[in-house]
Amino acid sequence: IYCQLCGVLFNISRIRTRKEPREAAWLSLSAKYGTTWVGSNARDHEPCGDDCSVLYRGSAAQKSAGERLDLELHVIDNPTKDELCPDLTGEPSSDTSQYGPEYGPKLIEGSLEKLQTSENTLHTLDAPSGLSIEDLNTDFEPLSVIEDLDDGEIGLKALNDLRCDYEHIAGPNCEYLDGYNGNHISVGEMRECSTVQCLVRKIDGWEPLDDDQDFEKYSSCCLTGLARGLDPIWSNRFSPVRHGSSEWVTAANDCDYTLRSEEVAIWVGLPFHPTCFELFRRASIKALGRVATEELMNLRDYYCKYPERTAEPFCQRNDDVVDSFQEGDWRYNRGAEYLVANPIFIPTFKQICDAARTVPEDFSIQGSPFFGHDDPAKSSNKDPFLRLPSEILQAIVGYLGSKDIALLRLSSRAFRHLPISVWYWLLVEELPFIYEAWSDDVHPYKWSLIDSGRFQALTKRGEEYERMREATIETLRTNDTDNLETWMKNSPAAKSWYDTDEYNIGMASCMEESKALQPVSLPYDKTNWYKLYIEIVKNWKDLKGLQNRKRIWKDITDIISRMMEHAEAKTDEDEQVDI
Ligand SMILES: [Zn+2]
Ligand SMILES: [Zn+2]
Ligand SMILES: [Zn+2]
Repeated sequence: IYCQLCGVLFNISRIRTRKEPREAAWLSLSAKYGTTWVGSNARDHEPCGDDCSVLYRGSAAQKSAGERLDLELHVIDNPTKDELCPDLTGEPSSDTSQYGPEYGPKLIEGSLEKLQTSENTLHTLDAPSGLSIEDLNTDFEPLSVIEDLDDGEIGLKALNDLRCDYEHIAGPNCEYLDGYNGNHISVGEMRECSTVQCLVRKIDGWEPLDDDQDFEKYSSCCLTGLARGLDPIWSNRFSPVRHGSSEWVTAANDCDYTLRSEEVAIWVGLPFHPTCFELFRRASIKALGRVATEELMNLRDYYCKYPERTAEPFCQRNDDVVDSFQEGDWRYNRGAEYLVANPIFIPTFKQICDAARTVPEDFSIQGSPFFGHDDPAKSSNKDPFLRLPSEILQAIVGYLGSKDIALLRLSSRAFRHLPISVWYWLLVEELPFIYEAWSDDVHPYKWSLIDSGRFQALTKRGEEYERMREATIETLRTNDTDNLETWMKNSPAAKSWYDTDEYNIGMASCMEESKALQPVSLPYDKTNWYKLYIEIVKNWKDLKGLQNRKRIWKDITDIISRMMEHAEAKTDEDEQVDI
């Protein structure tokens, strides 16, 4: 499945660099080879050249179970059986957590979270705390190692398996198209690119929740919790369970024809990245004064039901997205990395905004951003613009784009001292997706702030604990009934993970982390709009999140106008039926 708003898949792989820890590499688990890293399968490696290397990770088939757990729980060491088994000695547990006794593999404190939120992760990553880079990355070998595996005797499948034991490590010019190259997009930039949330229709007997968003209260649709799209099984398990949704929701796209029947459609969620929904929410309020969830849902269902009336899926409009989809597979094209960059939490853009907001006390947006002397030789006295009052000059500028203004400034002295406010209007006109400039409240909605991996890990630990607990009870019941009662008293059943303190503390702490990166509002009269504009243009190449925001904003604006066309057409149809 892909995001219904931006058209990008949720299961996206990443090839790490030599400098990054193991967690910085991941493979969409629906991929064929059963590893958590991008293996060196039989694809031709020659284009990679000498920059790339491989790292032996052991037999892929045997490792997969343990390493998968590593990925999901963010741990490095495989859990031993002892660690997974609850204490059987019958002594009261010293652990007072609400899960009861010590269980499950330990999380390395903040490892992946740290990677995802650190502001300094643009091009380099630190190893998780307590581990040095050297511990994690040793024995890189040249690509020729995997070429040598082929003695001409083994079949292609066996060779493939052998090669996948070797993780591909990306150099700057890596041409390996099974994952995005870590040299070109950081883990921090890819923050939450696998997170799925759904919009679903309310079911009969729907009850409001305390944490409902306003638009959930008043429409026929509501939000699920979050899931992770890396794993086909877990991509449909939304946590926390909201409005009973986890039991019955499946996510599907507008190309899914099973949605043609009304009875099925009611069970099917409309999936998106929470950050894409944040943009939809803003664009919808801007255009319609409200979050039009119902119209969005209706449009998706319409595209499902009448594929013959609709030329293409409604979000696959961007050329880079179309180029990346090849026969249902995702191609990790070089230069298209921005497609998976988080469009809301953008560390470098935040720095630019902070700098533009730092203005001297006597700052005025009617002032000129330029300093220095006029050069009389460059503009003649015959310059007609010099005779015009400044209000007229500003009105002229109002009709021009940034390039024309730059030219005008060169050709006429009259335009050299345009006030800073001119760049405010330019920005709002040309870069409307920078909502920080025109929105009073830039706080993202709650679910876009949350690290879904963290909560999925909690869910899994809770389930694993339950599983081990039941197995132990079963064993004691047959072999050691004397101790059964004591043991059960010391090992209570797990609460739902989202009822625990651990959840609440985790939720609070990841909200805090996200807030450090969230957009800041830019007050009209206290922002150096010239500086902001110039810095955005100058750094555009590195502002992948902002590039992605521009793309998604365009798609969403288009979706909203189609939503409204569809809603109008529907009303007309209904009226005709009435007659
Ligand atoms: Zn999206
Ligand atoms: Zn490579
Ligand atoms: Zn607010």
